[in-house]
Amino acid sequence: MTVRLSRRHFVELAAGSTAALGMSLFKYPEFERLLAQSLQEVPVIWFQGSGCNGCSVSVLNTFPVTIQNLLLTEVVSGKHVSLRVHNTVMAAQGDLAMKALYDTETGPFALVVEGGIPLKDGGFYCEVGEKDGHGIPMTETIGRLGPKAIATIAIGTCASSGGISSTPPNIGEVVGVAEFYKQKGITTPVINVPGCPPHPDWFVGTLAQVLMNGPESVEVDEDLRPLAFYGKTIHDQCPRRGSFTANQFAKNFGEPDCLYLLGCKGPVTHADCNIRLWNNKTRWCIEAGAPCIGCAELKFPGHLGPIHEPIDLSKTLDKAAIGIAAAAAVVGVTAAAVTKSSGEKSGH
Ligand code: SF4
Ligand code: SF4
Repeated sequence: MTVRLSRRHFVELAAGSTAALGMSLFKYPEFERLLAQSLQEVPVIWFQGSGCNGCSVSVLNTFPVTIQNLLLTEVVSGKHVSLRVHNTVMAAQGDLAMKALYDTETGPFALVVEGGIPLKDGGFYCEVGEKDGHGIPMTETIGRLGPKAIATIAIGTCASSGGISSTPPNIGEVVGVAEFYKQKGITTPVINVPGCPPHPDWFVGTLAQVLMNGPESVEVDEDLRPLAFYGKTIHDQCPRRGSFTANQFAKNFGEPDCLYLLGCKGPVTHADCNIRLWNNKTRWCIEAGAPCIGCAELKFPGHLGPIHEPIDLSKTLDKAAIGIAAAAAVVGVTAAAVTKSSGEKSGH
């Protein structure tokens, strides 16, 4: 079934902004027609570093804004985005791909970075192109593109903070874009869209707003995440919150109560998965019976603790949000659970 993008859907994504977006990966006849209509074209360079491609796959599955809409359709009059460079889905390869990059970076463009940036040994462990027979490290490319970009969107947790790629002991010395820019003295605005992967709406809506109204129009939190999508905790919006408050905790998967003891990181995770829904807007983690593993947090995964062990709420900054009384009760339950677990391990 063909799904047509409506203005309403798009405005929803842009969280209220009257944003416009279309994309082209390469020259389509339709693209030529759009250009002929004198649309303002906005080039985008999308570079992938140390990651798994999952963020690209997530965006390719965007819905109800289909990838066809994004690539070929003028969504709202006036602007058209041209995705000129993307390591894995662009048609060009080799020298042609490098030429597309060099041609595009001579003018204004928005930069999207997916994956972390490995610093060890001068970036040797992540090469993203070749020139005169020599590999070009991600560090060199982003160090060159970053200062020229009108804005940078770090898509996914790896690009935002290192993510899985930087999990301790982080042997590649991987960092996110904001940290890389800080070390290099690059002042281009960075907006983080974390998630492992991020929901396609989080990226599409953010990009739309950046392109229509500028990066400064995007309200962000202290982790540079758009408040429109990351403004509340999963816990605050969770349908199992009543069970948490009543100290009713699932001990096994499949039980309907709060998943805290099974490792849920919802109390410290900021995202709107419960209203956004995944998989073509059908389900989300907790509704499917799985604890939130905190994938939209910059601390994910290495600094949130083991996936299926409860976090220590006494150390979180979100006690006000989760309710001090409930937190205290849960910390007690956690302590008991941890003690039991240690006992079991020591007797192993
Ligand atoms: S701990 Fe997890 S399952 Fe329990 S209420 Fe909070 S977000 Fe929901
Ligand atoms: S519920 Fe948690 S783990 Fe699941 S997608 Fe949302 S932020 Fe990530």
